[in-house]
Amino acid sequence: MDTIMLNLILFGPPGSGKGTQAERLEEAYNLVHISTGELFRSEMEEGTELGIQANEFMSRGELVPDEVTIGMLKNKMLAHRDAEGFIFDGFPRTRPQAEALDQLLQDLDQQIDALIMLDVPEDEIVKRIVLRGKDSNRPDDSDPEVIRKRFQVYQTKTAPIFSYYDEKHKAHKISGLGTIDDIFQHLCDTIDSLHV
Ligand code: ADP
Repeated sequence: MDTIMLNLILFGPPGSGKGTQAERLEEAYNLVHISTGELFRSEMEEGTELGIQANEFMSRGELVPDEVTIGMLKNKMLAHRDAEGFIFDGFPRTRPQAEALDQLLQDLDQQIDALIMLDVPEDEIVKRIVLRGKDSNRPDDSDPEVIRKRFQVYQTKTAPIFSYYDEKHKAHKISGLGTIDDIFQHLCDTIDSLHV
């Protein structure tokens, strides 16, 4: 019997609430949540070579190079071969990453079922990140220059990924404004309406 897998991409600008919602979805749908940002941060905390390398880019608000990011993601996926599906958070962020993800899933006889974007206006995003920077110890959330850079990178390199999946009729957009519960409900409605 074929197992039904569910592979989702949670998409949106920095600070749009992907991490918070991904944690809830992980539990509700029994998926493995992979956040590339979190993976890099834990490598940094452990002081690994990969962490040291990633920190150079993250501290400037730039993207970590594709080869490094894709390699790390692949390892993480292969470590969860028994997963019922994945929720990708913060990945893919570039077109080569999207293509690599498609290939990786194809090799496992799987595919992306949906990309769901959390739509949040830019002025709200800035407020949220500044607030988060106050009680998290993420240096990239405290420096206005770095926050601006991350936006710029999102607009130029990452936002076009929406069209990449839209062309495959897999892209969905929901409002990222409102309570965490409301947004979660909208996400669940979107997921439950997929024909997986
Ligand atoms: P946010 O969504 O708030 O930007 P993340 O935790 O997703 O936070 O990412 C933090 C930083 O980690 C990014 O600014 C980038 O430097 C690095 N990073 C995370 N994911 C990727 C990725 N897929 N490709 C390249 N760099 C990444």
